[in-house]
Amino acid sequence: MIVRIKGAISNCYLVLGDRPVLVDTGAPGDLPRILAALRQHKIEPAQLALIVLTHGHSNHAGNAAELQRLSGRPVALHANDALLAHEGMNGVLAAQSDLGRIIRPFVDEPFPAFEPDLLFRDGFPLEPYGVRGKVILTPGHTLGSTSVVLATGDALIGDVLRGSMIWPNRARPHFFCNDPALNYRSLALLAREGLLRCHPGNFGSFPASQLGRFLSTSGGEFLQLSGEPV
Ligand SMILES: [Zn+2]
Repeated sequence: MIVRIKGAISNCYLVLGDRPVLVDTGAPGDLPRILAALRQHKIEPAQLALIVLTHGHSNHAGNAAELQRLSGRPVALHANDALLAHEGMNGVLAAQSDLGRIIRPFVDEPFPAFEPDLLFRDGFPLEPYGVRGKVILTPGHTLGSTSVVLATGDALIGDVLRGSMIWPNRARPHFFCNDPALNYRSLALLAREGLLRCHPGNFGSFPASQLGRFLSTSGGEFLQLSGEPV
């Protein structure tokens, strides 16, 4: 079962397998919501098998330091985003649209720095942590972006795409993407996973068929699909 924990500006997810795994930790200020969600499911922070970060941005890694301290459990992050965690900074946030440029000053905030316990370079299986699934590399938004792909056909995709602010079940390009061509390849990789549903870092979930909307056009056209209403 996947529980969406809605933060102030983004989602994190609690995956309830044989053991619970937390995917992302929200933005600074979201910690009470995360702890409340854990309490609601009768989970102590120390019972988390793993805390996986889809990438090192402030609204995903914003409470990693505090949750690492509170839980004593390992925090996993791809090595390519290690510097972001070490500095507690977002680094480059390349806007993909006018909207991205407008909101950037409001979302680009520092966060408590931390050192990940599990700094990985390749994907890895989640079975050792009690969840049927795996972490795969889906870089582009940041160079260390990853997705959690579950055996249920669900994928927690971080900021590879976002949900729509207006339409349910629709995907949109994320506001920021540091390497759109690489992100396009990550979309293709996700599409080959035979997924049913994607759960993004911002706004609502959407069917995996939405991935095809972006893959059926050229990578260059993907760059231009950046306004909100379609
Ligand atoms: Zn991000």
